[in-house]
Amino acid sequence: MTAPLHEARPAAPGRALPDTQQGMRRRNLARVMHTVSAEGPLSRAAVASRIGLTRAAVSTLVDELIRSGLLEELGPERPGRVGRPGSALAVSGRGPAGIGAEIGVDHLAVCAVDLRGQVRARAVRQADNRDRSPEDVTADVTDLVRQVVAEIEGEGLWPAGLAVAVPGLVARDGRTVVHAPNLGWHDTDLGTLLPAHLPLTVDNEANFGGLAELWLGEAAPHDFLHVSAEIGIGAAVVVDGRLLRGTRGFAGELGHVPVRPDGPPCACGGQGCLEQYAGEEAVLRAAGLASAGNRVEVLADRAAEGEETVRRALHDAGVALGIALTGAVNLLDPEMVVLGGALAGLAPWLLPSLRAELARRTAGPACPVSVSRLGSEGPLLGAAHSVVRGVLDDPAAVPAPV
Ligand SMILES: [Zn+2]
Repeated sequence: MTAPLHEARPAAPGRALPDTQQGMRRRNLARVMHTVSAEGPLSRAAVASRIGLTRAAVSTLVDELIRSGLLEELGPERPGRVGRPGSALAVSGRGPAGIGAEIGVDHLAVCAVDLRGQVRARAVRQADNRDRSPEDVTADVTDLVRQVVAEIEGEGLWPAGLAVAVPGLVARDGRTVVHAPNLGWHDTDLGTLLPAHLPLTVDNEANFGGLAELWLGEAAPHDFLHVSAEIGIGAAVVVDGRLLRGTRGFAGELGHVPVRPDGPPCACGGQGCLEQYAGEEAVLRAAGLASAGNRVEVLADRAAEGEETVRRALHDAGVALGIALTGAVNLLDPEMVVLGGALAGLAPWLLPSLRAELARRTAGPACPVSVSRLGSEGPLLGAAHSVVRGVLDDPAAVPAPV
C-alpha cells in the first residue's frame, strides 16, 4: 500500500484525533476502503481476514461505507468457496469523485476521477494565460469545473474535492501560489477565487506529476526523481514512497539548478539555469523556431523529419538535463529518473545525450532513466487522484453531496 498523500503535509487543525474509539473507527474505515480498493471485489469475510478484525466489526464498517456511497455490493460471490457465499464488495463507481484541474501556461484542463480510478469526465480549454489575471483564469477554471461536475452528477457521482496543479511555487498551506513566473502571479490565494463549497488543494504541477507516477505509473518505483517541463522545468522528489516537499514546500526546483554558472540570466535572479537550456521555449530558440502554442508537437515533428538544427537543440537540452540531474542523482541516489510531462514526447531525441551525460558524471553505476507513459496527462491525473486518495485515507471526512 502506498503512503497517504496527506502524510507529508502538516495535519489540518481538528483532523488529528486522539486515540479514542472515534479515531479507531476512522482508521478502520480507511483500512477497509484501502483493502477493497487494492484487492476488491472481496467478501466481508475476506476483508475481515485481510485486516485482522472480526466479521461483525467489518460488517458495521462496511454498512457505514455503503450508506455513504463509497462501497457497493455486487451480489453473491460465485459458489465453490468454503462456507456460506457472501456478497462481493467493490469500491463504488458512483459516489464521490476527485476533481483535478491544471492551470497551464497555454491551456486549462479539468477532469473527474471516480473511486475506482476511472476518468469519468474531462474539459479542456486552450488559452494563453501568461498575461491574464488570476481572477480571469480562475473564472475559466470554475466554469470548466461546473461543466465536469454537471456531467458526473448525471451519472450519480458528486465532487469530493478539487485539486489544482499550477506551474509555480505553492506555499505549504496548499492554496497560495507564492510565485508562478510564467503566469506572472505572486502571492495569489486561489482559495478565495475558486468554488468555496469544494475542499481545495493547490500544488505544483511537477509534484502532482510525480504523485501520478507513484500511484499510476507502470514501474512504480518508491525512490525516484520525476522531471517534467512546460516552459519551466520542475522535478518531484519521491523518497520511500513519499513526496519530499522541503521546509517551505519548494523542493524540486530543478529548472533553477545552474548548468553553466556564467550562462544567460534567468527570471529567478540566477544565471545559466537548466531552464535556459532545456525549457521548451529555450529549445525552440536554440532550434531557430518561433514560439507557438503546440511547442512539443512542433519540436517532435521536425526532429522526426530529421531536421538537424532541431535535433542538435534537443541533444544539447539532453546534455543540460544530464548535467543538472547529475547533482540530484549524486545527492539522492534514486532508483530511477522518470521523464514525464511534455519531456516524455521528446524523449527519443533527449535521452541519448541525457543518459550519456549522467553516466559519465555520476559516481556509482548509471541511474536508469525511464519515460512516463502518463506524459503530459500526469499533473491533471495526479491532482484528481490526490482527492480520491484523500477519500480512501479518511472516508469519514468525505463531504455529502450538495
Ligand atoms: Zn533560474
